[in-house]
Amino acid sequence: MKKDLKVIIVGAGIGGLTAAAQFLQRGFSVQVYEQASVLAEVGAGIQSSSNAVKVLYDLGLKKELDVFAVRPQAFEYRRYDTAELMHRIPLGQAHEDAFGAPYFHLHRADLHELLARTVHRLAPDCITLNAKAIKYEESDHGVSLHLIDGRVIHGDVLIGADGIKSAIRAQILGQTAVNYTGDIAWRGLIPVEKLPKGIMETVSTVWCGPKKHAVMYYLRAGALMNFVGLVEHDQPEEESWTQKRPWEELKRDYEGWHPMIQTVIDAMDKDACYRYALNNRPPVSNWSTQRATLLGDAAHPTLPYMASGAAMAIEDAAVIVRCLEQSSSVPDAMQLFQRNRIDRTSKIVVGSTESRGLYRIEDVQAMKQAFADQDLSKSRAQWLYSYDPLNVALV
Ligand SMILES: Cc1cc2nc3c(=O)[nH]c(=O)nc-3n(C[C@H](O)[C@H](O)[C@H](O)COP(=O)(O)OP(=O)(O)OC[C@H]3O[C@@H](n4cnc5c(N)ncnc54)[C@H](O)[C@@H]3O)c2cc1C
Repeated sequence: MKKDLKVIIVGAGIGGLTAAAQFLQRGFSVQVYEQASVLAEVGAGIQSSSNAVKVLYDLGLKKELDVFAVRPQAFEYRRYDTAELMHRIPLGQAHEDAFGAPYFHLHRADLHELLARTVHRLAPDCITLNAKAIKYEESDHGVSLHLIDGRVIHGDVLIGADGIKSAIRAQILGQTAVNYTGDIAWRGLIPVEKLPKGIMETVSTVWCGPKKHAVMYYLRAGALMNFVGLVEHDQPEEESWTQKRPWEELKRDYEGWHPMIQTVIDAMDKDACYRYALNNRPPVSNWSTQRATLLGDAAHPTLPYMASGAAMAIEDAAVIVRCLEQSSSVPDAMQLFQRNRIDRTSKIVVGSTESRGLYRIEDVQAMKQAFADQDLSKSRAQWLYSYDPLNVALV
């Protein structure tokens, strides 16, 4: 299709910015509208497997990523009290050799800043801040985006990359189911100098136990330890990344867990413990119209249990650009995109929800057996990491 199409993206998160950079790199005209007054991300970690890193490399970001990315050697699933190893997924060189790109642990703010810088370099006026989208209209000839301050933006294609509370999703799909999972997520960052030297190898440790699990990995070239604690909790609370809760509650949640977890929690800044309600949104299958579509969390919000939400947004970004390049009309491209992304993203969303049970089995032998039966190392190699959004056939 002609590259003089005007693409409008709502949302400058990881998905929207990756899509903008991919479009610009391939010669499309694109504008991004972001509700926030400054471009920023919260302090937390993101795991990014080869399927997403390939897209970042395609944007020419290898050298910059190497400055702050951590290359974990493995995923290690350990018992919450004894630290006994239940399962191991090799990462490091083995992952890179098998799938053609590394597995990274990244600080969200570092990745977001790098993507924003890349978009600015390609098109300095591409991103408009203080631009909250409220609705859109479409016709056979184009699409119009309405902002809350009355501005109306005209274009050919609209992409809603506006996250889990997407206004564009609400218009396309109406009200969709949102169910509290019964889990909250704690998050915190710890400078490694506050921890005993070499407390953990360069791995991602998933501590598995009754009614809760916890994930730890290094960020920012090893300068920070990322802690995420996922705990069953009766009380639904706000779905907000910036809600703080008392450190004492976190400490209580992990009472009796392994000494390494106690050491990490004890070293955490007591005024910077964040807690977040995790909601489940079942997959949907009709997120495209004639001229509008959704990308990232707006399309397929997921629980974090397969560490693949941002990776899916990055994959979407590469695939939507290819769909517009390959199709003879915008409506065809919107359908091609949806058709080629639904099965994979639904499988990740459902798989993430199911993983929760595996990590929480009370009995040690039953947990060992369940890990052996599922063999995450093999199954993730077969379909999760081996996907290449830049080259997969689009049918
Ligand atoms: C605890 C936890 C751990 C996670 N860990 C991982 C991990 O290890 N690996 C991984 O791949 N993923 C992980 N994720 C998921 C990942 O964070 C998300 O999937 C990813 O950030 C989605 O990116 P996005 O660009 O689609 O949405 P967002 O990052 O939410 O960006 C949306 C943007 O749109 C803007 N916006 C919203 N509404 C409007 C509007 N009306 N008008 C204009 N702008 C608007 C917002 O301000 C924001 O900038 C995790 C999530 C959680 C909760």
